[in-house]
Amino acid sequence: MENNFFNNDSRIGIPSLFYDTLTGKPFSKCQVCEKEIMEHSTNYIIEKVFRKNIISGKIDVHFEFAICFDCAMNLTNSYSKESKENLQRFFTENVEQDFKKHQEVKLATERDVVEHLSACSITGKPVTELDEYQIIGQFTGQYINPAMAPVMIGSGAMDEVSDLLSNKTLDEIDDFTGKYLTGPPEFRDFFKAPKRRPILV
Ligand SMILES: [Zn+2]
Repeated sequence: MENNFFNNDSRIGIPSLFYDTLTGKPFSKCQVCEKEIMEHSTNYIIEKVFRKNIISGKIDVHFEFAICFDCAMNLTNSYSKESKENLQRFFTENVEQDFKKHQEVKLATERDVVEHLSACSITGKPVTELDEYQIIGQFTGQYINPAMAPVMIGSGAMDEVSDLLSNKTLDEIDDFTGKYLTGPPEFRDFFKAPKRRPILV
């Protein structure tokens, strides 16, 4: 991935979109190993799934987590060989193409990032047309990791990604999410439904 999403000398802080919904503040720890992640050089990932509430029509955070690179690596290493190959192929064929377009975009402020996240990074579908989507960002300490712009993935594309994972891998992700995810209590039901799982990229 090219390092030209961002203006060279501007570091962007963590957009509030990626804050811990329960505290309204940035995540402070990896939810797996409890390492402090706001430290200067700690690399970590934040992933959140938003879903439209059928009754209120409001988009709510369905679940979210912060995980350090080491723990994320351990999880993806546990994916089956087949799943890893499928994911790799999918991202090479679909995502990288679209990311090339995004590379034209210069992200200089939090506002640019939020704007950038307003359409699916894979299909280009606007967030206003999605009932469910996830955002994934990589961070280093208190800043967005300049090597990777955050992405938004709409529900259609999420299903495509889930379909690429083997049952063994999906079971492992289920174990992981059961143990570590935070969010409203009903989020656990989310994992009982097929094809609705977090994907670490
Ligand atoms: Zn960790």
